[in-house]
Amino acid sequence: MSNQAFIDRAKELGFIAAGFSKPQTPAHLDFFLSWLHHAEIGDMTYLKRNTGLRKDPRRLLDGLQTIVSLAYPYPATKPSTPDGYNASRYSTPEQEDYHLRLRRLGKELCTFIKEIFPESHSRVCVDSAPILERSFAVTSGIGFFGKNNMLIVPGYGSYCFLIEILTTAQFSIPFAREIENRCGSCTRCIDTCPTEALKAPFCIDVSQCLSYLTIEARHDIDTKMAKKMGNTFFGCDVCQEVCPFNKQDAPTVSMPPADTIMRMKAPDFKRVFGKTAFERAGLEKLKSNIKALLNQ
Ligand code: SF4
Ligand code: SF4
Repeated sequence: MSNQAFIDRAKELGFIAAGFSKPQTPAHLDFFLSWLHHAEIGDMTYLKRNTGLRKDPRRLLDGLQTIVSLAYPYPATKPSTPDGYNASRYSTPEQEDYHLRLRRLGKELCTFIKEIFPESHSRVCVDSAPILERSFAVTSGIGFFGKNNMLIVPGYGSYCFLIEILTTAQFSIPFAREIENRCGSCTRCIDTCPTEALKAPFCIDVSQCLSYLTIEARHDIDTKMAKKMGNTFFGCDVCQEVCPFNKQDAPTVSMPPADTIMRMKAPDFKRVFGKTAFERAGLEKLKSNIKALLNQ
């Protein structure tokens, strides 16, 4: 099977890029471990677990031969409430949580692999395995690390999800053709980060990042950080919005007004945001974030 046949099938399913890597120690592991040693990671202590698996991805699947990295686009349009509050683009409140959607698409690709390599077995990872996914994506040649830590896919930008398929199928692994960083002298993402969480190129203080504070952090946002949120109550996106590799579209109204969300009870939340990416943060976190915005 040519790798191209797989890439063609992935593109038919809506992926914008697919690349192949050997299941070896990720090229950026030392950088990651050094960052982790010095970084403030807040409640994301899971990052410190499973270093052995991160180092040796072969332990994630018996007989692993190929790591396939896939990028799937999300809209450049920021979802908004009618009263002007908004959420990070990837939240796509009109659609099912991307974890579910992308897992289904990944499984379709696993079926495709199985048709060609009947003896193979494969595993889809959608934020579900301790793997340095951006490192493998870079090694596979589908993009480069921006100074904002995002994977930037040339010709598309960074508004994309990443997933991996781990497979025992023996794809041909092209000779390393890593794309060099193309940021040049630009530092817009660092200069405009509202909380100064982006300390330097490729260096983020997670505990100060609004994406973390509005979604993952268990505690409420304090007044000082609330003043930096702008109008965004879920995620942030500023370091991507300013990036010249991304196109910018005007916000679209796809959520109820903020005061409606504030009045929601659990059944309302389930009805409106039931299977979306908001479900993971939960109603109380959304309310807490909106309250922080309203009290700015
Ligand atoms: S998501 Fe926002 S707060 Fe976090 S690093 Fe980017 S600009 Fe800064
Ligand atoms: S804003 Fe500039 S420095 Fe930051 S990732 Fe984009 S191109 Fe690179």
